[in-house]
Amino acid sequence: MTTLGQNLKIKPDRLWDSIMDMAKIGPGIAGGNNRQTLTDADAEGRRLFQSWCENAGLTMGVDKMGTMFMTRPGTDPDALPVYVGSHLDTQPTGGKYDGVLGVLAGLELVRTLNDLSIKTKHPIVVTNWANEEGARFAPAMLASGVFAGVHSLDYAYGRKDPEGKTYGDELKRIGWLGDEEVGARKMHAYYELHIEQGPILEAEGKQIGVVTHCQGLWWLEFTLTGREAHTGSTPMNLRVNAGLAMSRILEMVQSVAMDHQPGAVGGVGQVFFSPNSRNVLPGQVVFTVDIRTPDLAKLTSMRARIEAEAATICKALGVGCSVEAVGHFDPVTFDPKLVSSVRSAAERLGYSHMNIISGAGHDACWAAKVAPATMIMCPCVGGLSHNEAEEISKEWAGAACDVLLHAVLETAEVVG
Ligand SMILES: [Zn+2]
Repeated sequence: MTTLGQNLKIKPDRLWDSIMDMAKIGPGIAGGNNRQTLTDADAEGRRLFQSWCENAGLTMGVDKMGTMFMTRPGTDPDALPVYVGSHLDTQPTGGKYDGVLGVLAGLELVRTLNDLSIKTKHPIVVTNWANEEGARFAPAMLASGVFAGVHSLDYAYGRKDPEGKTYGDELKRIGWLGDEEVGARKMHAYYELHIEQGPILEAEGKQIGVVTHCQGLWWLEFTLTGREAHTGSTPMNLRVNAGLAMSRILEMVQSVAMDHQPGAVGGVGQVFFSPNSRNVLPGQVVFTVDIRTPDLAKLTSMRARIEAEAATICKALGVGCSVEAVGHFDPVTFDPKLVSSVRSAAERLGYSHMNIISGAGHDACWAAKVAPATMIMCPCVGGLSHNEAEEISKEWAGAACDVLLHAVLETAEVVG
């Protein structure tokens, strides 16, 4: 078996040029991208990716969610493929690298293998998951979720965009409804390279994030019911103040998160006051608590404490309180063997690295339900993402793609 030398590297200029060419499709308004799922721009980006893949000798399969699977054959017809992927769709004001890097790094990996005539026992499949972002059709990671059996196909087809158009209709309209049953493919392994979308790697001066876990999450939507009343003429002892209850709950969420350190976060990013008028105490306050940690026991404990203490706070103020869980996934522990392939690849190549936890959800988190999976992260400037100003360097992208190449080759087994 060919040993993987430290000189085996991808071509960073070629990878970078492809990323910049893809960024021309669905341009944003501030240097980034607006290539949302199942738009005409999404279709055009898919066709460009398809043409690049076919020029590299890959054959395409498309499933009924519109996910693209581009296959480079292996030498063993019975060996399951090693999948490499991410997503080409973006936020409405998204960056050029979120998702795109992982898909085009898969293509660059294949181009490198072609240049060097390297064969693998297992096929390699470069994957573009449909609707990772969930900006147009919630929830995020929709196609990988159907693939992993988390959602049904009917549920996915019925998801509506803000104009009321459904996923199923739009998938047909843009011409990317495939014929493969979703989830029928079996994976030997799944690798996803992604930008960090956080500030840790850059701050620590590390080139590679070896991703060991993905955080679990609960989104708890609270509806507090008070009594609308004049802020000037209502005595303090006669107020049923839903806003005050909300502020006490926010403080409490902070304390709960701090009590579950290390590795837990909690906060509120969205609040609706009703009627939201300067001189009216709110009759209703709706807000969502977002709690995350890679530790399932902590996640469960945080949710229980937040719900119990919120009930106590509201009762003391005479405020009505109901809670609905509107988002959830369990923490994911990535496959230890694949994680160590990533770490040893970084070491072989002489790239600085550290263990890191994915703070955001990714297709890899659903893929991990059906296959050994892991992720590789590269730094992004200032931790900025979901923003047109998202930035990485060519060197960071190249180093991370080198690590992806080595890790995938170890798993796919070089022949000859
Ligand atoms: Zn992404």
